[in-house]
Amino acid sequence: MDKYCLECHWHVSTTDGYTEREVSKRAIEHFVETGHTVDSLRLPPPPVLQN
Ligand SMILES: [Zn+2]
Repeated sequence: MDKYCLECHWHVSTTDGYTEREVSKRAIEHFVETGHTVDSLRLPPPPVLQN
């Protein structure tokens, strides 16, 4: 799970060693502290093969 801020460079991810619960908690904390909008990292679009 990845969470990132739409308004600054804040970012937290389970790949940083956090559990999903911790990621969610930190995302909420960032929102509460800054009022910034935190969103889940969107998956990249599927690769499109070009002819
Ligand atoms: Zn932010």
